[in-house]
Amino acid sequence: MNMDNTRFEEILQFIRTLYPNENPVPLHAPRFLGREKEYLTQCIETTYVSYVGQFVTDFEEHIKKLTGAHYAVAIANGTAALHMTLLAAGVQPGNEVITQALTFVATAAGIKHALAEPIFIDVEAETLGMSPEALKAFLVENASYKNGVTINRKTGKRIAAVVPMHTFGHPVRLEEISAICDEYGLMLIEDAAESLGSTYKGKHTGTWGRAGILSFNGNKPVTTGGGGMIISNDEALAEKARHLSTTAKRKHPWQFYHDEVGYNLRLPNINAAVGCAQMEYFDSTIKNKRETAEMYKAFFDQKNIPFFTEPQDCHSNYWLNVMFLNDREERDAFLEYSNANGIQTRPVWQLIPALPPYASCQCDPIPIAKDLEDRIVNIPSSVRIF
Ligand SMILES: *Cc1c(COP(=O)(O)O)cnc(C)c1O
Repeated sequence: MNMDNTRFEEILQFIRTLYPNENPVPLHAPRFLGREKEYLTQCIETTYVSYVGQFVTDFEEHIKKLTGAHYAVAIANGTAALHMTLLAAGVQPGNEVITQALTFVATAAGIKHALAEPIFIDVEAETLGMSPEALKAFLVENASYKNGVTINRKTGKRIAAVVPMHTFGHPVRLEEISAICDEYGLMLIEDAAESLGSTYKGKHTGTWGRAGILSFNGNKPVTTGGGGMIISNDEALAEKARHLSTTAKRKHPWQFYHDEVGYNLRLPNINAAVGCAQMEYFDSTIKNKRETAEMYKAFFDQKNIPFFTEPQDCHSNYWLNVMFLNDREERDAFLEYSNANGIQTRPVWQLIPALPPYASCQCDPIPIAKDLEDRIVNIPSSVRIF
């Protein structure tokens, strides 16, 4: 039987105890708890507000240290970081890239920006991300692997890469996905936009394949206002991405020589300054978010309502907490009730293959994604302040 407003109200009351000082309670508000103002002032006083400056380098160093990636390239936003990564990795116009049907639209847009075609496969309920079984089944059914190249028999096009996304900060089964990519000669490129601080088998998300991308949008665990990062252990890829996103200008003290059509997508110093300040207390951010998830878990267990917890072998950042309702009707009733009563909640994204720009893309059967779409509700997950 579906819940009524009395039961909904019990949930809202609990959420209000987590965020007593905010009304309405936002889904995920940024927090500025460190030296953000001081660093921003430093940018203005030194005039280093734009693409050149120490904070960009320092921010890249922070991310390298946290993730263990050998190279990090700061980019204007996460979508552009995926675009630049795919180009730098050598994805060609007309190539195909496999991703998951349940993701934020930026994953698919980044693939399209690189003039590649996304292919959508199913997710799994255990991780909310790409299912290795669905990936394998898609390739067995559709692909031919010859001389290191995988061709899609249905379209005749080359499949170049696989882009899994770590939904709400919960890592996918990277070991299995990585092994399938190796078997078919496909590049693994992780959309780790939501999973800064999340590891799988002790290794940071975004570092399992050729490259990974991060986002520092206003709602992400670390924000720079807007921002993104490419992480990789591949020096050539990182240098290519840096070059492409910096107008493809050859390094020279004064000459303007651009050796290809470049992009203007570097992260300004003023944004990186905020990121540096946020990284200085990132450990406590993650600790706070994981404690919030524990409190939710204890509450929902007691109420017999399913709440999503980190998958096996994962240490998740719990970016956005997830509760499950019974069906679309109950979900919509809860969304209505909570948003009308001062608690911001959101459904998961509409499945990408159902959106007009992606409707003609190849799409595998996606029963799990469809089921999750009906039942997921994101609940407030900002860092709690005391
Ligand atoms: C936030 C996000 C991005 C990148 O977003 P930007 O706003 O461009 O920084 C990419 N993929 C996913 C899954 C995201 O959640």
